[in-house]
Amino acid sequence: MSFQDKSLKCIDCGADFTFTSGEQEYFASKGFTNEPKRCVPCRRAKKQQMGNSTYDSHSYSSR
Ligand SMILES: [Zn+2]
Repeated sequence: MSFQDKSLKCIDCGADFTFTSGEQEYFASKGFTNEPKRCVPCRRAKKQQMGNSTYDSHSYSSR
């Protein structure tokens, strides 16, 4: 299977970013079928936010 670099638009900041063939290969190897919707900086920010909210909801649900 061969991949080609793809130009995508970030849904968060609206910036164009490249979904490289290497990343596509990585996604495919992980079994991900969805394309990334966010550029790398937004993905990182989102990941950190999710980490925090997971921690919050966990402490709530333990009550
Ligand atoms: Zn972005």
